[in-house]
Amino acid sequence: MAKKLNPDTEKLRHLDKQHLWHPFTQMKEWCAPGHDPIVIESGRGAILTDSEGNQYIDGNATIWTNVHGHSYPAIVEAIQQQAEKLAHCSALGFTNEPAIRLAKALVELTPESLSRVFFTDDGSTAIECACKMAIQFRQLSGEPDRTRFLGFDHAYHGDTAGAASLGGIATFHDRFEKTGFDVTHVAGLDELRQMSPEEIRKITAITIEPLIQGAAGMQLWPSGMLTELRAWCDKSGVFLIYDEVMTGFGKTGTMFAFEQETEATPDFLCLAKGLTGGTIPLAATLTTDRVFEAFIGGPEQTFYYGHSYCGNPLGCAAGLANLRVFETEKVLESLPQKIGMFSAALEAAFRDHPNVTDVRQLGLIAGIDVSGTTGNEVCIAARQHRLLTRPIRDTLVLMLPLCISGAQIREAVQALRKGLDESTGLD
Ligand SMILES: *Cc1c(COP(=O)(O)O)cnc(C)c1O
Repeated sequence: MAKKLNPDTEKLRHLDKQHLWHPFTQMKEWCAPGHDPIVIESGRGAILTDSEGNQYIDGNATIWTNVHGHSYPAIVEAIQQQAEKLAHCSALGFTNEPAIRLAKALVELTPESLSRVFFTDDGSTAIECACKMAIQFRQLSGEPDRTRFLGFDHAYHGDTAGAASLGGIATFHDRFEKTGFDVTHVAGLDELRQMSPEEIRKITAITIEPLIQGAAGMQLWPSGMLTELRAWCDKSGVFLIYDEVMTGFGKTGTMFAFEQETEATPDFLCLAKGLTGGTIPLAATLTTDRVFEAFIGGPEQTFYYGHSYCGNPLGCAAGLANLRVFETEKVLESLPQKIGMFSAALEAAFRDHPNVTDVRQLGLIAGIDVSGTTGNEVCIAARQHRLLTRPIRDTLVLMLPLCISGAQIREAVQALRKGLDESTGLD
């Protein structure tokens, strides 16, 4: 098949360097003359095509968002149909059908105790929303000084001021520590158990990425962690906030990661990235009747928080279509086989590799620690082998869209292996 070149590619690159500012990016390197940014032109299933006609496997599911593949027909159609009817409607004073139906679907999909859904736009705002609900709940329940949060070391909960203050990754978060919530960082359960009752009485909630810390480098929590954390929260009267922004929607092999420790249900569940199948920014904060009912009363009880695009009908229509695909295509049932193939491919490619110090896998997510090269060099080299992904420092990351085929799983792992061999001079 002849490569289809977008004739404007060079011009677009030039304009990008003139006007765009990219996230988490040193723009000096980005704008340097030798750097030719890849302009992504289209996507189909697990494959992305750039403006020069090169095709790649989407090895990190487009920064952890994509679920059923790009341009999934039923999701595209749902967005198109909704756009023709109504692209947006304010949730302030009005309501709309896709938001209502998606809220109901999310409540049905999650534990019975989660009964209310507050829609926002991004993972960070889903977290901010949970935190502000927790703070105001304490004000409304006669514990106004209970304003402190606990976050885990190496956690990542987003980049708005409050969400960033909960994070525990020094390079990202230290500089913003003082501009957000009052947060104490802890390493694990032992530290929680050593807290005095006086300290605990200041704490409103604790946030955790269930089973796996993503931005920390795909680090797995010990099994049983959530059950023990839930027990500690119950004993201490501290709210438990699950950040399933990355892990939600099948990535770990179950719809939500916490389902793998079923007894441990949260007081708040934050969803975003995969909520619309990776198409439109939309986030949801789910909570309980107990929290909701504290806000029922006069103006003083009102939850003063929101965004212009809360409950956006386009996003909610995409979210509903995303959930329907899980059902109609029996997506979760297809995962164990794919996860098994992924394990076998990782094992064959990286076990005993002299430059690999650790391989971690959960569902269709993997983190591979490398030495003797940099994560970035490996990922750049892997592009020549039709794979796009980003490392976290020297951890290579694969997070495969759920639609990926067995052959594509092997290709993606092989591409990373070749990139590693090339960047360490082994090939
Ligand atoms: C990506 C992510 C966030 C932030 O989501 P945004 O949509 O980027 O604001 C929060 N928590 C976790 C675990 C994430 O992976």
